[in-house]
Amino acid sequence: MIRITFPDGSVKSFEAGVTAYDIAMSISPRLAGDVLAATVIPASDATGKGTIYDLTRPIDEDASIRLHKWEDPEAKKVFWHSSSHLMAEALEALYPGIKFGIGPAIENGFYYDVDFGGHQLTESELKAIEDKMLELARRKESFVRTEVSKEDALRNFTEKGDEYKCELIGELEDGTITFYQNGDFTDLCRGPHLKDTSVIKAVKLLSIAAAYWRGDEKRHMLTRIYGISFPKKSMLDEYLAMLEEAKKRDHRKIGKEMELFTFSQKVGAGLPLWLPKGADLRFRLELFLRKIQQKYGYLPVVTPHIGNKELYVTSGHWEHYGSDSFRPITTPQEGEEYLLKPMNCPHHCEIYRSKPRSYKDLPIRLAEFGTVYRYEQSGELHGLTRVRSFTQDDAHLFVRPDQIKEEFEKVIDIILYVFKTLDFKNYKAQVSLRDPENKTKYIGSDENWAKAEAAIQEAAAEKGLPTVVETGEAAFYGPKLDFMVKDALGREWQLGTIQVDYNLPERFGLEYIGSDGQKHRPVMIHRAPFGSMERFVAVLLEHTAGKLPLWLTPDQVNIVPVSEKFSDYAKKVCEFLNNYEIRASVDDRNETLGKRIRESELKRIPFLVIVGEKEESEGSVSVRRQGGIDQGSMPLKDFAELVAGEVKAQLA
Ligand SMILES: [Zn+2]
Ligand SMILES: [Zn+2]
Repeated sequence: MIRITFPDGSVKSFEAGVTAYDIAMSISPRLAGDVLAATVIPASDATGKGTIYDLTRPIDEDASIRLHKWEDPEAKKVFWHSSSHLMAEALEALYPGIKFGIGPAIENGFYYDVDFGGHQLTESELKAIEDKMLELARRKESFVRTEVSKEDALRNFTEKGDEYKCELIGELEDGTITFYQNGDFTDLCRGPHLKDTSVIKAVKLLSIAAAYWRGDEKRHMLTRIYGISFPKKSMLDEYLAMLEEAKKRDHRKIGKEMELFTFSQKVGAGLPLWLPKGADLRFRLELFLRKIQQKYGYLPVVTPHIGNKELYVTSGHWEHYGSDSFRPITTPQEGEEYLLKPMNCPHHCEIYRSKPRSYKDLPIRLAEFGTVYRYEQSGELHGLTRVRSFTQDDAHLFVRPDQIKEEFEKVIDIILYVFKTLDFKNYKAQVSLRDPENKTKYIGSDENWAKAEAAIQEAAAEKGLPTVVETGEAAFYGPKLDFMVKDALGREWQLGTIQVDYNLPERFGLEYIGSDGQKHRPVMIHRAPFGSMERFVAVLLEHTAGKLPLWLTPDQVNIVPVSEKFSDYAKKVCEFLNNYEIRASVDDRNETLGKRIRESELKRIPFLVIVGEKEESEGSVSVRRQGGIDQGSMPLKDFAELVAGEVKAQLA
């Protein structure tokens, strides 16, 4: 008999060789029907991390177990990966003789890379593949795991003529190779998979792309088919509706409609051009952050957009990222090399170094909206979320080791204020710690790491942040805390980061004189609540569908006279509102009232004010909120106070 320990600490005995499915059945058949995979941590597993098991894989020794239902990311991964096998089975049935690359689960769904020989797959063929998948799924085919020798594995795929799988097998150790079979399809795979295909109830193949074998552009081009699958048809319907909504909220589309930013091939790919309304929005965001930062004792600095290459040799960036950066700029006379600034930190280190510092001066918080330039492959560029030039809301805090926790708490306060004011309600903090098994990978003493890791976790706990801890995810130079935000569509974005750094103070030889009169090394904290202005604005536009908070949005009030006759009154209204610091403008173009109202909606202007004869004679305005909500007619002064009051409340 073996002992199985459950997450609640309870222990049950089973025959050796029991499966996770049997264990679930012993609790309830209903649970067994819902469970898709299990994490099994055998007593002999020294890492304590365990492995995801197939539900049908025997457990031979004492172990802890966690059963995963659809809600768990582990289950989704197994579900989607198994769906890629199901797709491959369907493809092989429909296109005999094709060859397969790899077919992993991804964040949302799965893909498989396929060599179709001479055939060019088109979107019109996807439906038939989906139908075949569902037909095969209904057959309730088991995913059967077999361990094979390297020799047998190679023979199998050599006979099949699949050189891709043979290449993969060539890199594996004998004794570790497993095949999985569903129906007539056999794949080289480590697993795990679902118990059988019948739980896959809904499938949608989403797109086709070209992908080089192993990402190498010198090698064969394969066809990548992306898909997603669910255990219920209604889940697929919801997902497709979400995709549809995401399309409507695409920040590139909204940015165009609101005239916020544009791109020009002539200026260069990935280099955003902020239009007047976008720049206005951006300045307002900057001002908002500057104000809080001032309250927290940040000092503004300004540094150039380029720096001598030596600066980045000292910082280590050249060694790490040099080959992926823009090439250096050379001075015509001296032949000195300069780099477009990839990050602001080295410049700020030199500002710190510009005069002697005492323990009493610390923390020193240097803040800059610093524009940086990073080379991204043209295929990777995407709207404002992946660009080659962006402005970080950057700051570097130079602190004593005993100040890390307090400074972390203050940065968390700033970030939470930003989220609250901009209506991000759903977030969690991810704490990235070093891998204690692999300490040589990291710089800095054990003592410092232990202190900083404890300080971050305590700060997060004291601020009541929902936190997930990722061991082994720290950078080599220090632990960090990232904020993961869920937007209105449930998509997760990483916004806001706080990062401890022991490396740069070392490399730049930064010092302060301690209370003992000796030289000490400060700790550096990098932090950016927005991340970058570009990415933040993109996320904000998608989160709000462009309906930005009143205090932030470029145009707050659009005044539309019913006819030319009332243009003068409209202008008077505008002036009156401007005196209240309300951003209002008049649309008295020679267009129909209907058209001007529609455009006001498209530009997401929160208030539409219509003025005609009645309003002029009364000194009033007719007010409509965005979305067509009628607020009726009111005296002009009341309206101005309404708008000003809402702005004030939002920034409180
Ligand atoms: Zn697999
Ligand atoms: Zn930095």
